[in-house]
Amino acid sequence: MGIAERYLQVRDEVAACCASCGRDPQAARLVAVSKTVDVPGAREAYAAGCRDFGENRPEQLAQKAAALPDARWHFIGNIQSRQIRHIVGSAHLIHSLFQIRHAEKIDRVAAELGKVQDVLLEVNVSGEASKSGCAPDEAAALLEACASLPHVRPCGLMTMAPQGDARIAAACFARLRELADDLRGQLDDEAADAFRELSMGMSEDWRQAIGEGATFVRVGRAIFSDVFNGA
Ligand SMILES: *Cc1c(COP(=O)(O)O)cnc(C)c1O
Repeated sequence: MGIAERYLQVRDEVAACCASCGRDPQAARLVAVSKTVDVPGAREAYAAGCRDFGENRPEQLAQKAAALPDARWHFIGNIQSRQIRHIVGSAHLIHSLFQIRHAEKIDRVAAELGKVQDVLLEVNVSGEASKSGCAPDEAAALLEACASLPHVRPCGLMTMAPQGDARIAAACFARLRELADDLRGQLDDEAADAFRELSMGMSEDWRQAIGEGATFVRVGRAIFSDVFNGA
């Protein structure tokens, strides 16, 4: 199988998984994480119908977004202050915001570019040192800080689960959903309405994430690697 066939297979499996969990088949959107391939690889998925791509490097995000401008480009990587201009210039949605100073700079850059930047707050639910994100009990303060930034719109939460144990991953995703529900309660009606996305689940654990309410799954290897065998 090539990239296009794997993309279509994962897309269909995501829809079927949503349905089998009693959710709308379109409830979880597939973000194809194209960070391991160049523009031609991304183009293969695009030709198969993919319109949501994820990148973790700002230069790659900008380059591929320029090559495929009518797709939505999601930034899922580590944010560095000096690269925020590149990120905001190309990102449909930033999944990985967890520092107030970055939110403030995103707000300034987005204002200059005349856009409101949609963001997700990345939360380190598992507490693993290798994972980025704010601690769960820091998310409320970050969300509150964003409320005073008119060019930053928080749309929900993102996390990465520990690898290797489906039940631990599911518990991590359930906690992210509960945290999002709690946080929504602190928002006014309009902000609460925007705050409904849960970006969680990757090649090995997207099924668990859909079971716990994911609205975005970020899948890389299962689409772009010909050696990934699935979970
Ligand atoms: C690479 C990456 C993914 C995709 O991971 P796969 O295991 O290749 O599916 C998802 N989210 C983030 C933040 C990543 O960096």
